[in-house]
Amino acid sequence: MGGTWAESASGDSVDVIEAATEESLGRAALGDARDIDRAVRAARAALDDGPWGRTSPAERAELMFRFADRLDAAAEDTATLVSRENGTPIALSRVANGIGPGETVRMYARLAAGLSTEEVRPSPHGATIVRREPAGVVGAITPWNHPQTLAVMKIAPALAMGCAVVLKPAPETALDAFVFGEAAAAAGFPGGVVNVVPGGREAGAALVSHPGVDKVAFTGSTAAGRAIGAESGRLIRPCTLELGGKSASIVLDDADLDVFTAGLGESSFRNNGQTCALQTRILAPRRRYDEVVGAVGQFARGLVVGDPLDESVTCGPMVSAAHRDRVLAHIDGALAGGARLVTGGGRPGDRDRGWFVEPTVFAGVSNSDAIAREEVFGPVVVVIPYDDDDEAVRIANDSDYGLGGSVWTSDEARGLDVARRVRTGTIGINYYALDPGAPFGGMKASGLGRELGPEALAAYTEYKSVYASARWLPEV
Ligand code: NAD
Repeated sequence: MGGTWAESASGDSVDVIEAATEESLGRAALGDARDIDRAVRAARAALDDGPWGRTSPAERAELMFRFADRLDAAAEDTATLVSRENGTPIALSRVANGIGPGETVRMYARLAAGLSTEEVRPSPHGATIVRREPAGVVGAITPWNHPQTLAVMKIAPALAMGCAVVLKPAPETALDAFVFGEAAAAAGFPGGVVNVVPGGREAGAALVSHPGVDKVAFTGSTAAGRAIGAESGRLIRPCTLELGGKSASIVLDDADLDVFTAGLGESSFRNNGQTCALQTRILAPRRRYDEVVGAVGQFARGLVVGDPLDESVTCGPMVSAAHRDRVLAHIDGALAGGARLVTGGGRPGDRDRGWFVEPTVFAGVSNSDAIAREEVFGPVVVVIPYDDDDEAVRIANDSDYGLGGSVWTSDEARGLDVARRVRTGTIGINYYALDPGAPFGGMKASGLGRELGPEALAAYTEYKSVYASARWLPEV
């Protein structure tokens, strides 16, 4: 923090454990409110007193391109480290945690390079200069499931707008987060612009309520998001919240099931099910219900469960024993509630270590059942029957959440018509894949505000209107 390495004030550290082996990967200092305070002060100083607050967008863009190069140089190591921390299959980790962060930083560097910070408009009294100023010090709080992607989705637009950042990553993935500090220092960012303080819930809460923080950017559970939103409201502090989901995959009656199953890994099982926007409710037309259940079951049985560093593995372990037990409790609850188990349902018999859960499919589920309403955050999907398109849309929308979604059909225009009617932040037709160039986020209990795309810059911007004379108007 503040451009230097520091021990935690308490001397506490966290042992980061490898999800597939249950062995120690290393220790990271575990910050508390005192460390958060130090980091926020460093960020404040960089912004208020240091050169950072006076940089032009073009200068920031130059630093960001160098930052991206440094992240790229570490990409393979970062991808491997994250896979070991949280179980992400290595091929996915190379994209999401390896090359993805550099690409996102470059995208926002290009936006910064083209950014105009002042626009002069005629006004009834002369002219108004509308300024886009940095929101200030950003408190960024991230979960463990896609730790690099979710951090860079906050850091990159914040830097583009000239904000300073305090990142508090989750303790489960504390080690990979330091690459942001190392890369920022190597790129030449002034000390205090990018600060990383791993810590638990208390450190996160201290960051949210710190008087030196101007904006909070959070990704995590809806429960934590509610607490952070309430505190931000009390403080009148802007916050973006990217929260949980229970999205629907709508298989229309004309869907090509080969196309559907080809996309299923990304749309419903990405990252061992530990992805917020996954479509874990699969809605199938009643007349093709058994066919869809069969296809999903066959797909799940074909997933290769094992060490995420093994290139052939498509389903790694859960991030922790506690999370594995939460996922198993959801499965047990569904079984107790009478859901029909198609495949999976427990821990794989051939794994004596690592926090693995079998890819699990339930049929005979109603949308009102707990397994269809609660986010599991593991490789568990349910298949729900519907009678016509209207009912499919109604079931898709009958959820507390609204984050992802997909429609599968041989008629793309019909798919688009259905997609328009689903209350969700993102939805794919015949595939689901995040587009960094477009806004991402949720409706309803899935969140507040959007990340990614040029739209995300607004979340790191304060507008100021300077009322001036007509002499500032551009000559025509
Ligand atoms: P979590 O909410 O328990 O923790 C997320 C982060 O917030 C961690 O860094 C944690 O230390 C911190 N935190 C927890 N409580 C806090 C509080 N009261 N104040 C401040 N900080 C607090 O979530 P998790 O279990 O780490 O992650 C899984 C959840 O994240 C799932 O619900 C998933 O859907 C959600 N998620 C959402 C998105 C999205 O973009 N919408 C993306 C990924 C994950």
